[in-house]
Formats: sequence, C-alpha cells, structure tokens
Amino acid sequence: MSDIKEQLFIGGKWQSAAATIPVEDPSTGDTIGTLGAGQAGDIDAAVKAAQAALAGPWGKATAAERGRLLAKISKAVEAQADMLAALEARDVGKPLKQARSDVTALARYLEFYAGAADKLHGQTIPFLADYTVYTLREPHGVTGHIIPWNYPMQIMGRSVSAALACGNAAVVKPAEEASLTALAFARIASEAGLPAGALNVVTGLGESAGAALAGHPGVHHVSFTGSPEVGALVQAAAGKNAVPVTLELGGKSPQLVFADANLERALPFLVNAGIQNAGQTCSAGSRLLVQRKVYDNVLEKLSARYRALKVGAARDDLDVGPLISAGQKARVEKLIARGRSDGLNVAAEGSIMGNAPKGGHYVAPLLFAGVKPDHLLAQDEIFGPVQVVIPFEDEEEAVAIANGTPYGLVAGVWTGDGSRAMRLAQQIRAGQVFINNYGAAGGVELPFGGTGRSGHGREKGFEALFAFSRLKTVAAYHGRD
Ligand code: NAD
Repeated sequence: MSDIKEQLFIGGKWQSAAATIPVEDPSTGDTIGTLGAGQAGDIDAAVKAAQAALAGPWGKATAAERGRLLAKISKAVEAQADMLAALEARDVGKPLKQARSDVTALARYLEFYAGAADKLHGQTIPFLADYTVYTLREPHGVTGHIIPWNYPMQIMGRSVSAALACGNAAVVKPAEEASLTALAFARIASEAGLPAGALNVVTGLGESAGAALAGHPGVHHVSFTGSPEVGALVQAAAGKNAVPVTLELGGKSPQLVFADANLERALPFLVNAGIQNAGQTCSAGSRLLVQRKVYDNVLEKLSARYRALKVGAARDDLDVGPLISAGQKARVEKLIARGRSDGLNVAAEGSIMGNAPKGGHYVAPLLFAGVKPDHLLAQDEIFGPVQVVIPFEDEEEAVAIANGTPYGLVAGVWTGDGSRAMRLAQQIRAGQVFINNYGAAGGVELPFGGTGRSGHGREKGFEALFAFSRLKTVAAYHGRD
C-alpha cells in the first residue's frame, strides 16, 4: 500500500494537504499509509471548484448526458471491482465477500441513477383561466456529503450518484478512518470523463474538514450519515445558512419473531442482520424480539449459529472481521462488560481464530438472552457484533417493545399471518419495514432513512432525487390584456 498518498481531489486535480492522518489496517493494527488532513481552506477550494463546474460543461450537460456518464462510471467501477474490494476490505477490515458486495452496490447506485437522471421532471398544475402553471426540478447547486467509515463506498455511492444525476456538483468528506475507496472512486470517475469539479474529495478530520463543509455558505444541501451527536452539529451548522440537510443516523432496529414464522427462513437473516460488518451497520437488526411460545427453541437455534461464527482478518474472509479501531473495540467491550456485570444471560459466543493478527481489533460475537426492553443494551446502539434477545407475549407487547427506543430506522417482522404483517407494518415506527426478510438484499431502489433519533430525509430509490433537487413553480399569464 505504498501508493497511499496524502492527496486531496479538488477541481479534477490531485493536491497535497498541509498535514497528514495515519491510515490503519484494522485487521493488524499496522499503519499502512497516510491521508491528507484537509482544512477549511481546502474545503473552500473544493466548493469553489464545484461552483466552477456548475458554471462550465458540467452545469450545461443535459439530463440524458449526465445519465450516460453515470452509466459509464458504473461500468468503470465494475471493471475495477477486485481492486476496490481489496482496498475496502483492507481499509475497513471487512471480510472480502462483504467488500465485494459493497462494490456491486456502488456500481448499482450509479446504474440506477444513470437511468433515473432524465426521468425527473416537473408537472403542470391546473389553475385560473389564461394561466399556465408548471414546476421545474432544478439542482441545488453544490452538495456536501459527509460519509462514515462503516460502508464508505456504498454510502458515498448512494448520495453522490443521486446528487450528480440531478445536476449538482459534489464535495465529499469521507471518514478519517476509511477514505481510500472515496479517493479511488474519484480517480475512476474522472478517468471515465466526469468533468473537473463535479466531484471533489477532501479527506480530513470531522471537527475541521467536516465542520467546514457542513457550515460553508457556498454549500446548498448537506447529506450526513453518521452518529446522532455529530448529526445534530451538522444540522446546526447548515441551519446557519438555511440549507436543507439529510440526516442518516443510527438505529436499534428490532426483528419480531412470531410463533407462526418460517424459522428455517428467518434464522440466517436474524443472525446476519446483527453480525454483518461486525455489527457496525446503522440498520443492524440488533434487537431480536421472540414470542414466548417459541422462545426456547429459537434461542437454542440462534445460539448454535452464534457458536459457529468465526472471526478473523479481512483477507481470511470469515463471518466477522475486526472492528474499525481500538477505540471502537474498547467502546463495544465496555458495553459487553456492562451487560455481564448487570447479570444478563450470555446465551452464546463466537470465536476469534488463533491466526487472527494480534494487533487487530477483534471482538467475539455475543448473544445476550432474556434482556429487559429498557436495559441499556436494548436501548443504545452498540455498533459491534452483539444482539439482545427479548421475549414477548403477544402482538401488542411486541409493538410496544419495537417502538420503545428513541430510534426508528428499520424493522423486520417474521410471521406466517399476512394480516398481522400488514398491521405491524403500519404500527411500527421505522423508515423501512421488512416482512419475512431483512434488508431486501440492499435494495438501492428502496427509499431509506429514519425517524426520531435515526434522522430525517430519505436517500436511495427515486425518492432521493427529490431531496437532491429543488422545485420551482412558474405561473405564466397569457391573457390578452
Ligand atoms: P461520526 O458521526 O463520528 O462520523 C461521521 C462523519 O462525520 C465522519 O466523516 C466524520 O469525520 C464526520 N464528522 C465528525 N465530527 C464532525 C463535525 N463536528 N462536523 C462535521 N462532520 C463531522 O460517525 P461514525 O463513527 O463514522 O459512524 C458511526 C455512526 O454512523 C453510527 O451511529 C451509525 O449508526 C451511523 N450510520 C448511519 C447510517 C445510516 O444510513 N443511517 C449509515 C452508516 C452509519
């Protein structure tokens, strides 16, 4: 990885940063390079480059031209899938197969928004005699994208592709822990023909580069994915400029398992939704609510799956990789210790392989059973490979527990009763409800976002195009006077 350079991508050119940030491989704890620590001045240069792009060929491109270009970038991403997957696996510590599916998602976002670019249009509105009234969908202008470290490629892909499809010019601030694929993507997009300044990537720390982007007066829309605490800061900074913000924050998403569920289908989803990406997933199905009638049976089967989980380096491509950093590992271990000291029942644990490098940030997956819905571990996002199992009696209690946290991102309902599934889909507070599945295999077409502490606004699907564009109403009077 000697080619990791501390450079920023601004206005189509690679530029040096004044200071650097070390890049760590979470599988080993080794430093493998350095990133540029972009500052407020670099963000300002990137915003100016984006403004110049909007005044130049990028701003003049038709919707169909933008779509064709996004399709070309999607193909270029597919052509470099192996390189991107290896880079993401190393940078984030993801097992290789998970990193591969993240590249597929990035290519698919580009493909989806390539097809959608020239299908976004306004409407005509019936009005008074001698008037023609219509609406126009226009880009905001410069969009800011603040990205977390857990799914860097996917999350950058979903917001940047939609923003570019609408004709915006983007400034991306990836997470300091995992920026490498954002830089690689900028290179790929530029080589595929994306005009200079349409996409700028400024790596750096959140409190400097991130804060400068969120509060820059030249930015017209901010898309933030990350923690609720930082989301509130970003919203306040953008609020000073009165610009719209999309906040994709965390979750404590429930999966409700009823006695009539098809357990054989449910089981792999129940566990995978908790341990995928070592549990560092905003939409992790981290609370397993199980009906008492089948509780013992389900717990036994869940436990067997947990005992079979293997943890190791990203390159070994096991079930679970390391956590992103020593700090994240310490945070998760502290929460596990809290669960143990509070006397929670440890139903089962996975195993860290003997050949896992000693400096890596490994945590064995752990299943807590019989947890009270108001316990800290059933309320707070753990962001590690830990799930809690909570028993319930009936539908009413299940809904009360499901809705009993400040979050509302995603929920899964496992039942053979179709009417119940439809009732619960209405009653559960969440941005997405999955019936007899969880996550719908990523579904780039499906609008995604939260309510409450999980944030607001929607990304993914056609819906994102409404967020990344603004509506203008034109009322034309054409009477004879
Ligand atoms: P984080 O909030 O610490 O950081 C996210 C991004 O914000 C990073 O790029 C960081 O540099 C930047 N940042 C930090 N301080 C900033 C500031 N003062 N101003 C502007 N930007 C700043 O979150 P994280 O630790 O990277 O990610 C974990 C969190 O993200 C979890 O809570 C998780 O649930 C959430 N998440 C949500 C989604 C979603 O789509 N809802 C997806 C992934 C992660």
